[in-house]
Amino acid sequence: MNYRSIAIDGPSGAGKSTLAKRLAQELGFLYVDTGAIYRTVGLAACRRGIDPSDGENVSEMLPELTISMGYGEDGLQHMFLDGEDVTTAIRENEISAVASKAASLPSVRDYLMEMQRQTAREHDVIMDGRDIGTVVLPQADLKIYLTAAPEARAERRYKELLARGQQAELKQVLQEVIERDRRDMGRKTAPLKQAKDAVLADTTGLDLEESFQLLLRMAQDRFGMGECGNE
Ligand code: C5P
Repeated sequence: MNYRSIAIDGPSGAGKSTLAKRLAQELGFLYVDTGAIYRTVGLAACRRGIDPSDGENVSEMLPELTISMGYGEDGLQHMFLDGEDVTTAIRENEISAVASKAASLPSVRDYLMEMQRQTAREHDVIMDGRDIGTVVLPQADLKIYLTAAPEARAERRYKELLARGQQAELKQVLQEVIERDRRDMGRKTAPLKQAKDAVLADTTGLDLEESFQLLLRMAQDRFGMGECGNE
């Protein structure tokens, strides 16, 4: 059986995970957050006191790790590191930068590639990340490049951190957003960029509902679905 796939790529804070999760629910696809997988490697390096940019040490660590993904009764993706559910731990703000450093290493990207492709072989998926349309699923049925101005993304991220009870300063969050963009777009292996055949969705100035409707229309156009996701 041929499963359908939607690849959503874009910079951090563009709303990928929130929108992809809701779209997956609406269409009955499995939502795969690939950033969470990179975050799990970042967390592992952090816990072992390994510099996430140190290719040699990180590569040596990889075969010792058992990383897996599972879906709870809530339908949400959980990440496991050596059997421990680290779904919450990987969301700490400091893990964002650590994950992005580890994600620049070709050994880390190779290590995680098969896990992502295998999931798409077994389910209809909406997969979000940085290189899904360009590298992981180049044959995806629909590719969306979701972005927004750095200032808009920083503001959303800032509000999200405050809502989670974490301390944050808008200026610093913007700095982190810009720095992460630079690293994700500038790396040699699988840099973040819009795939040639991806449709652009710029959500600057759109609220969440408007952004969702935009993505939903794109999916309905591609798959010829009716209002409720039926073909
Ligand atoms: O999406 P999220 O912010 O959780 O991802 C964390 C980091 O993982 C990103 O900054 C990026 O460097 C990396 N990543 C990646 N490729 C993906 C998904 C995430 O390089 N497909």
